[in-house]
Amino acid sequence: MGPELRDRFVSLLSERVRFALPLARFTSFRIGGLADVFAEPATLEELRTLLVLLHAEHLPFFLLGGGTNILVSDNGVRGVVMKLGAGFHYACWAEQEGSAIVKVGAANSLGRFVREAVRKGYQGVEFAEGIPGSVGGGLLMNAGAFGGELSRVVTTIRGVDSAGRVARLSGEEIGFAYRRTGLPPRFVVTEVELHLQRGEPVEIAVAMERAQRKRQQHQPHGYPNAGSIFKNPPGLYAGRLIEAAGLKGRTQGKAAISAQHANFIVNTGGASAASVRCLMEQAQHVVWEKHQVWLEPEVRFVGDWTTKD
Ligand SMILES: Cc1cc2nc3c(=O)[nH]c(=O)nc-3n(C[C@H](O)[C@H](O)[C@H](O)COP(=O)(O)OP(=O)(O)OC[C@H]3O[C@@H](n4cnc5c(N)ncnc54)[C@H](O)[C@@H]3O)c2cc1C
Repeated sequence: MGPELRDRFVSLLSERVRFALPLARFTSFRIGGLADVFAEPATLEELRTLLVLLHAEHLPFFLLGGGTNILVSDNGVRGVVMKLGAGFHYACWAEQEGSAIVKVGAANSLGRFVREAVRKGYQGVEFAEGIPGSVGGGLLMNAGAFGGELSRVVTTIRGVDSAGRVARLSGEEIGFAYRRTGLPPRFVVTEVELHLQRGEPVEIAVAMERAQRKRQQHQPHGYPNAGSIFKNPPGLYAGRLIEAAGLKGRTQGKAAISAQHANFIVNTGGASAASVRCLMEQAQHVVWEKHQVWLEPEVRFVGDWTTKD
């Protein structure tokens, strides 16, 4: 990148732009190479101006949420990694009798929002207790657990397209499906609107506790990971297929298929992205040979995956 373009980033974002920044600390896997440019727009206007600049310069970008569902390449990310800043952390409540409409900034922590909703006595998001990451990332992934999904409570979203135009999309236009949405590529979600119903405090507390207990019992603790590595094939569980294929505990470098839950890969200390990806490919091939089922990654591959000699 030439010095002129660098100066334009700095004049737009001042200290909120950094260059050649290691990404590992922004991901739950604690894995990832350098971002050429790391930009944190703080307001909607700043985000729009940045998107217009990237569009004009034909620069690729990746929108980073909490980094809890991604595997960033060891080679890092060419172009710009964008993370929504201070102006995208909010929750505005319009409470009526028996229900509430809430507008939540995409950078808000999903977990913090869930706890706030529960504290106020609303139901419908308890399933998300313990899902890390941001509200925007949760929306993009249609995050879900224990039979619940964000799609059930989201009514509309607001965002900005790659040319910097603000758009409002309704539930149908979002195109929710299992752990994905049908949003246009490079669409940045800035706000998520949810409709929540008041619930029975005791029932909400019980549902929260159940979610917490299940996570405590079944998920690995102590090592960085990115949650479920593969999507569950229809009617099946990816973890059970991997376990039945005899892969629990298999290692590649410092990455390991968790001995506790086979649909988790853990970083046991300094694992490379290449090791994690290699383990994933091994699981896909062995499960295919044993069960004729091809596992689809739930984790998204980010960055430059070209091999270097
Ligand atoms: C321990 C653990 C447990 C987990 N349990 C669950 C679970 O029970 N259920 C579940 O569904 N997931 C689970 N996950 C996975 C992950 O937490 C969710 O998918 C989460 O919603 C991702 O949010 P994020 O902000 O971290 O997104 P990221 O990982 O940062 O990004 C994920 C995708 O969303 C895009 N994105 C992020 N923000 C925006 C935005 N504002 N606009 C446009 N695109 C955006 C990114 O570009 C990327 O493509 C778990 C992860 C961990 C580490």
